[in-house]
Amino acid sequence: MAPHTEQLTRPAVQLRGLTRSFDGRTVLDGIDLDIPAGQFVALLGHSGSGKSTLLRAVAGLDHEVTGSGQLTAPERVSVVFQDSRLLPWRRVLANVLLGLDGKEAEQQGREALAEVGLAGRERAWPNELSGGEAQRAALARSLVREPELLLADEPFGALDALTRIRMHALLRELWERHRPSVLLVTHDVDEAIALADRVLVLEHGRIGLDLTVDRDAQARGEYRVRLLAALGV
Ligand code: ADP
Ligand code: MG
Repeated sequence: MAPHTEQLTRPAVQLRGLTRSFDGRTVLDGIDLDIPAGQFVALLGHSGSGKSTLLRAVAGLDHEVTGSGQLTAPERVSVVFQDSRLLPWRRVLANVLLGLDGKEAEQQGREALAEVGLAGRERAWPNELSGGEAQRAALARSLVREPELLLADEPFGALDALTRIRMHALLRELWERHRPSVLLVTHDVDEAIALADRVLVLEHGRIGLDLTVDRDAQARGEYRVRLLAALGV
């Protein structure tokens, strides 16, 4: 057996009984969740259902969560948020490289920017970018760290519909090339079906529906109906 086989087959996320309350109100109520290495998962749920809370816990950003979890090492996890969180006083390439040093890193940063369609914008300031470009830069900043697990919290939620569609294509393409595990939080049913191989619905603090999406299926419409029903829409 190849020495790296174990590492390749280790799940990226393995949660058992993940629980989180705020002021005595239970938001996550004993969540069990396995995400195999390389799987693209979308997490749907109503506003306030606990999606961001779950994502923060998986990212290791929440120290008050209880339960057990074998998770990807924190340095192999990247998080993308709804706003790009680029530092306005640093140029685009410097934002992508933040915390990384050296010529090799710089070259990788340039390549990552080219991959997301921002070649030539290395020296731009963040406020010179459109919303979509800023999210591209945020994806490049994740990519350059070669994450095993990419967490994204409504990353396209603030973009216009056309830009969003282009970003869907870009994210799926990046995933196909680099194969990180992805946990994408969204409230958009169509976005979830368009991007993910598996869609989860979070309700009442639990995973209420766990749907495998056959990407070749003619059954997109049927997925939509089932997901909307699970969401009570
Ligand atoms: P979603 O991302 O699905 O919209 P969140 O995970 O942000 O939902 O929030 C789930 C619930 O937990 C909400 O009712 C929210 O008010 C509550 N909540 C989240 N973070 C905190 C916090 N830091 N303090 C108190 N309540 C919180
Ligand atoms: Mg949220």
